[in-house]
Amino acid sequence: MITANRTLAQVLVALGIGSVIGCCIGGIVLAVLAGYPIVVSALSPTSTPSPTPTVRVLPTITLAPTLTRTPTFAPTPLDVSATLTPLATRTPLALRATPKPVTPHFWLARPVPPNAPTQHPALTYLYGTTARGDYDVHHGVEFVNPTGTPVLAVGDGVIVTAGNDTQQRLCGDDGKRVCGRDVNFYGNLVVLQLDRAYNGQRVFALYGHLSKINVNVGDRVKTGEILGEVGMTGIALGPHLHFEVRVGVNDYAHTRNPILWLVPLNGRGVLAGRLSDGKGNLQRGAIVNLYRAEPETFLYGIETYSRDDAPPVNSDDEFGENFAFPDLVPGDYIVRVHNQPYATRVTVEAGKLTFIEFGQ
Ligand SMILES: [Zn+2]
Repeated sequence: MITANRTLAQVLVALGIGSVIGCCIGGIVLAVLAGYPIVVSALSPTSTPSPTPTVRVLPTITLAPTLTRTPTFAPTPLDVSATLTPLATRTPLALRATPKPVTPHFWLARPVPPNAPTQHPALTYLYGTTARGDYDVHHGVEFVNPTGTPVLAVGDGVIVTAGNDTQQRLCGDDGKRVCGRDVNFYGNLVVLQLDRAYNGQRVFALYGHLSKINVNVGDRVKTGEILGEVGMTGIALGPHLHFEVRVGVNDYAHTRNPILWLVPLNGRGVLAGRLSDGKGNLQRGAIVNLYRAEPETFLYGIETYSRDDAPPVNSDDEFGENFAFPDLVPGDYIVRVHNQPYATRVTVEAGKLTFIEFGQ
């Protein structure tokens, strides 16, 4: 196991890989997907364990995107294959279906330009996850790009925080609340407050670890305007953009999953869901594995949100989700929960949000 205290070199050795795309928050190192020690799901046999858990697939929702982009990056590696083994029959969790409207709010443009080397969030350290227990619960997502890559305004708004948090508390309405888990966290950071409010709440976008800041508090900016450049200030161990969405208050306790706010890359869709225990409690730190449907091929797994008491990460006010897959190629997928009998087939469509619920 990798620990947060290990050095980069130790992590490389531990992972047995030769390349690392990213880095970190609190001693975090992100491995390239191809080299990441993906946990392979055990699959249920062709004959589904009995009784079969109920999975409700909520209708997908068509967006009216107002942004057009031309992504140039290579798609997320999807050629990971796995040897599949039958899953022992388990007693499914008690199920309870609670109808819930899903209203997507893909309001935000992408924070890095179309020619940036990486335009999608690093899959190994998504919002609410811990890199399989090795790191602090993540309150944002990482866009791993070289130092100097421009970071862009994701919407029209005003700059409410711009500076270095090495010795200062810069967030909150008074500019005196800690921005991250502690001071000395994000280094050079910018927080943009959108002009648009969400159910009466303010929406903020945070850009952390910048090498350069181009704006000042009070500046008005338009979507796509350059706010600064990617760097590795603060506790970052390598260059990347830490991107965060905050709803209501500009502080570390009010984050949300950016994947549910960023417009999907052109031609891609989002798959999100809620895994609970049937009593309404979210299952934390479970592994949700994604497979291409035909032929059934393991792609990668992500964690459901973990508990973080300092302070917690948050589900969307309307969705109540605890996992989300970003920027998927449209098509049919199978979602299986590792070591649990939950499985379902879903269709992902370009520009849409598909939402699934397990366990209720
Ligand atoms: Zn981060």
